[in-house]
Amino acid sequence: MRIVALAGGIGGARFLRGLLAAVGPQDEITVIGNTGDDIHLYGLKVCPDLDTVMYTLGGGINEEQGWGRTDETWSIKAEMKEYGVGPEWFGLGDRDFATHLVRSQMLTAGYSLSQVTEALCVRWKPGVRLLPMSDDRVETHVRITDGQGTRAVHFQEYWVKLHAAVDAEAIIPVGADTAKPAPGVLEAIAEADVILLPPSNPVVSIGSILAVPGIREAVAAAPAPVVGLSPIIGGAPVRGMADKVLAAVGVEATAEAVALDYGSRTALRGSSNEGGGGRRAGLIDGWLVDTADAAAVDAVEAAGIACRAVPLLMTDVDATAEMARAALALAEQVRK
Ligand code: GDP
Ligand code: CA
Repeated sequence: MRIVALAGGIGGARFLRGLLAAVGPQDEITVIGNTGDDIHLYGLKVCPDLDTVMYTLGGGINEEQGWGRTDETWSIKAEMKEYGVGPEWFGLGDRDFATHLVRSQMLTAGYSLSQVTEALCVRWKPGVRLLPMSDDRVETHVRITDGQGTRAVHFQEYWVKLHAAVDAEAIIPVGADTAKPAPGVLEAIAEADVILLPPSNPVVSIGSILAVPGIREAVAAAPAPVVGLSPIIGGAPVRGMADKVLAAVGVEATAEAVALDYGSRTALRGSSNEGGGGRRAGLIDGWLVDTADAAAVDAVEAAGIACRAVPLLMTDVDATAEMARAALALAEQVRK
């Protein structure tokens, strides 16, 4: 079976680890990774979400943090501080630096981000084909208003430095409108047997991937069933501050609202105003909510999305594999 998953950082990576445990050796997984979080620091290109997937699946992740390397040291950061060179708020450890050096060196030599990612994966052997959503530069910015007035800040500044403490007014994927999907992305979606949306951030992880022209349309039109898993449990993100960026796009932080925002592929296909009225295409056929949100199942189904309530806490690989099996089972149920 050919499985395609769109993935952000920690939620995507942890889910993929469970998915790998749930499938067989004959199954092929292609991951389309978010690069909207990418940031240039010290002249280096840092791709936090691609690296989180690569390190998590390759056995190099710092488990407690959910990002960065195991057994990390921080000498470079300390030396930079002595020079008064920041940003101090972004954590890049010594081991992690090596990844960004290799990446930046290859990019400078003329390789594409796809080629670089493939090269980095030769070392990490993540067990999936990891594709960046695009080889073009896309950077998610967040519009905020604070003591310095209204301005747009890089997503990492909003998330890591400001801890999403001020309201996000708008999410702007800078560069997305002219970005092209990376080689292999649209083909993988079109040829997939199942498409999964892991419990990644719907706005700044999955949403950034879908903002690359062609990707949303490809998912909406794919012959394969599309099933998503809710990152929201009991009205709050399991980890992080997804509620802040959901508010910026006018979506409530509930499992139901996120499903309705992705939208039903069937309901829209059958509707008379299909393709018209500027209404965007629905994306999912199935949706998993946590058992705590079982009360949401009926409303999601009423919107034309098959919905089941199962435990969605990724407490360990076994529990996560069970989530992946539930997603694949739902995909079979909704397969046309
Ligand atoms: P990021 O790029 O590191 O922020 O990671 P993702 O976008 O891939 O995932 C972040 C989302 O994962 C957050 O919105 C969390 O609510 C969600 N998440 C984290 N752990 C769990 C979990 O155990 N279960 C579920 N359902 N969602 C989770
Ligand atoms: Ca991210």
